[in-house]
Amino acid sequence: MRKVVQDVYRLSNTWDQADLGAGVYLVSDGCELALIDTGFRNKAHVIMRRIYRLGLSPSRIRYIIITHHHPDHIGSLAALKGITKAKVIAHRDDVPYIEGNLPQPGPFRPALYKSIAQALKDILKTDPVGVDIAVSDGDELPVAGGISVIHTPGHTPGSMCIYLKQKGVLFCGDLVARRLAIKLPSLAFSADIPQLKQSIKKLAGHDFEILCFGHGLPMRRNAGKRMKDFAVRL
Ligand SMILES: [Zn+2]
Ligand SMILES: [Zn+2]
Repeated sequence: MRKVVQDVYRLSNTWDQADLGAGVYLVSDGCELALIDTGFRNKAHVIMRRIYRLGLSPSRIRYIIITHHHPDHIGSLAALKGITKAKVIAHRDDVPYIEGNLPQPGPFRPALYKSIAQALKDILKTDPVGVDIAVSDGDELPVAGGISVIHTPGHTPGSMCIYLKQKGVLFCGDLVARRLAIKLPSLAFSADIPQLKQSIKKLAGHDFEILCFGHGLPMRRNAGKRMKDFAVRL
């Protein structure tokens, strides 16, 4: 768990964020808190404990922003919304999955993953949660000091990146991941790979300094430039 920049925290304790399932980030505007993604199910109490340890109170969480509908990102959403009464923000194209009107579809390939997913059925299960604010590409919201939405479909139909303007920080969900360098996300769980690559090229047209991934350590310098270099090689 560590500070990414002032008022932006990564709540995972491991480089790959596997202790929570995926990257869970907390942003403070000095008064209210916003959470970005929620990890696997049964992580709500770990997340709350880590927020307390930062000297902050989870009761100040007003918004929970979801980058996309996968179980490692929305698993603890129902529990955290229940505890905090925060408003849930997600892209409109992922709303049916989050609200339980469409099933979690992946993995898409290969067949082997299907049997693994079957074995992990309980972990991958998600409870339906109502989305309070359904957003679209280009939307700007007065949340966490001001965020803008960049719709980056492909990994899921409603995958989105969140840009925190004041800090130059971009949260990319599973549009890309990181080991040492930027890499593609899990293709087995990506719905439309050509569309995913188009979205990576779209994001490469934006400027940002710091990139926070769903899987992998934050990239703290020159992330926008490194994203452009990655997109060119696709
Ligand atoms: Zn993920
Ligand atoms: Zn994902």
